[in-house]
Amino acid sequence: MNGMVIIGAGECGTRAAFALREQGYDGPVTLIGAEAGLPYERPPLSKPDGGQAIRKPICEQAALDAAGIDYRPGMSVEAIDRQTRTLTLTGSSLAYERLLIATGARPRRLTCPGAKLALDFRTHADASAVLVAATGPVAIIGAGLIGMELAALLRGRGIKVTVIEAGPAPLSRAVPPHLATALHDRHIAEGVDFHFGQGIQQINPNGVTLASGDHVAAGLVISAIGVIPDTALAQTAGLATGNGILTDARLATSDPAIFAAGDCAAVAQPGGGHMRLESWRNARDQAQIAARNMLGGTEDFAALHWFWSDQYDLGLQVVGLPKAGQEMVTRPLGDGQISLYLADGLLVAAAGLGPGNSIARDIRLAEMLIAAGSRPDPKVLADPAVGLKALLKTARAA
Ligand code: NAP
Repeated sequence: MNGMVIIGAGECGTRAAFALREQGYDGPVTLIGAEAGLPYERPPLSKPDGGQAIRKPICEQAALDAAGIDYRPGMSVEAIDRQTRTLTLTGSSLAYERLLIATGARPRRLTCPGAKLALDFRTHADASAVLVAATGPVAIIGAGLIGMELAALLRGRGIKVTVIEAGPAPLSRAVPPHLATALHDRHIAEGVDFHFGQGIQQINPNGVTLASGDHVAAGLVISAIGVIPDTALAQTAGLATGNGILTDARLATSDPAIFAAGDCAAVAQPGGGHMRLESWRNARDQAQIAARNMLGGTEDFAALHWFWSDQYDLGLQVVGLPKAGQEMVTRPLGDGQISLYLADGLLVAAAGLGPGNSIARDIRLAEMLIAAGSRPDPKVLADPAVGLKALLKTARAA
């Protein structure tokens, strides 16, 4: 019997393998991962323990065995034959009934002279190499989530850090500007140097020469300039691709026997177009829907986007997709703040920044308010004396 095969043993692929079993599927489930060892979580990579990169398994081998998941680490899929529903692996082949592509994304690479001297930060091996090499001044190229989290980590170890960013501000892709500014200010207060709007002329063993001709001295250069969805297999197999593997709302690709989910999937949106999200929660949520639909379900993917980032003692959380043009209402919250976003009166997103986990409860309540289809009065929403829990009660009663 040909069973369910999953390519990619990251957060999405691994969760999908277990979800197939949770749905009662009792045929063969094969999970193929390119890296050696057990599947592991990526978020802990930027939070080392005693200077060592943490490799936190998503599951133990015993759990894979108990679930009857045939996990094949260190194996790469070379091709997908859609006619015969067969995968070519190095030295073998494997037939599938339904296939899930959860190949994730790989780091975007710099193209300047000396680019090879810059280290990526994506895998456990990358994180280990960076942590070993970070003994003196470090230059980080890219002020996105990885760049800023690593800057905080390395400053915490007393290392001189310079961040070089092509755009005019940090965290401009996913973080609302006022919270990005607050984090930027904190990094400056912690002694991080920034260069914005700067191209790279070249990287050499002594650091980075900027397009302006200025030189940033560094013994280690880290490249954190974003990721590219891993679509190569899908493209070669003739599946529809764009900024990711194109899927319908059910996460089915242009071949109904093949699904895609996680960082590599660009999912059809109700208003038209496709959206690709890069986050841990998205990988987990899409894994559930993909597994159910591989078994014949017809569920559309509609979970809210959510991510968090820890920098110094500050915790950032964003739920939904805050966008310019939405009405923003900001509430103080202890030593932090939370902003709520309304589109035509409908609550659609929230973002908060505060010490430790202080904003987590309100972000969770905001998420429930969004799910309840809440249309709060912005004046009431702005009043910190009115708890979000009370608003949720009202929204649910309505
Ligand atoms: P990112 O968040 O997309 O940020 C990359 C940054 O590098 C952007 O600001 C980008 O500017 C800039 N950039 C691009 N080309 C550049 C160049 N040649 N020179 C200088 N700057 C350049 O990507 P990332 O920080 O590399 O993270 C990779 C992935 O891991 C993302 O999917 C991220 O969401 C995920 N991640 C998530 C978390 C979290 O959720 N806490 C933590 C770590 C990583 P432009 O936008 O102008 O191109």
